[in-house]
Amino acid sequence: MIKTYFFYGIFVMVVCGVAGYFLFHFGKGLLSMIEDWQLHRELDELEADGAARRVARAEAAHKRLENGCEHDFDGALGGFPPNVCHKCGLAKEKPTGTCDHVWRAVDGPIPNSVCEKCGRTNNASAQRSSLA
Ligand SMILES: [Zn+2]
Ligand SMILES: [Zn+2]
Repeated sequence: MIKTYFFYGIFVMVVCGVAGYFLFHFGKGLLSMIEDWQLHRELDELEADGAARRVARAEAAHKRLENGCEHDFDGALGGFPPNVCHKCGLAKEKPTGTCDHVWRAVDGPIPNSVCEKCGRTNNASAQRSSLA
């Protein structure tokens, strides 16, 4: 009688162990599947985010130049920096610094321009001397 219970007990333990082992691995597989899925979803979201940000940036860049001016970015005339509209003073592309310069022509012996927002000057000779 005791022997029967003993074997029964062993049998139950083995079955539980095997079942537990499979459950454990099944759970691990399931977890990694969920993790994969989440990773993919996050990547998708990141991609969508990046695309949305690109669109927003392109739109902002477009709006930035919509000031009613028929831009002429041949700003080399009159001492403007390159790629600056010599009619409204805006650069074709937003400068990397904090100031979105608006260049104004300055009268003088040398063609020069100055940013009306931050006061930066664009004098070719002044730039050369500051570099030296
Ligand atoms: Zn312009
Ligand atoms: Zn400026």
